Amino acid sequence: MAQLTPPTPPEPSSAKPLTVRCPSCGVMHAYRTDNPYRPFCSKGCKAIDLGAWASEAYRVEAKPNPEDAPD
Ligand SMILES: [Zn+2]
Repeated sequence: MAQLTPPTPPEPSSAKPLTVRCPSCGVMHAYRTDNPYRPFCSKGCKAIDLGAWASEAYRVEAKPNPEDAPD
């Protein structure tokens, strides 16, 4: 009658993975020091963020200057 269900042993959480939110897509992912795209979750997200940043910078830098025409 007594159904012995052994308690699940707690997992050793000494090395708890640190999860961070991807600044680009907002997904929670494990922060790994061997992830070349950190703090982004993937290469694509890093490219997106860099692309946005680059276009923003380009917009600021690219001022139309008629006096600077090479002609
Ligand atoms: Zn992402």
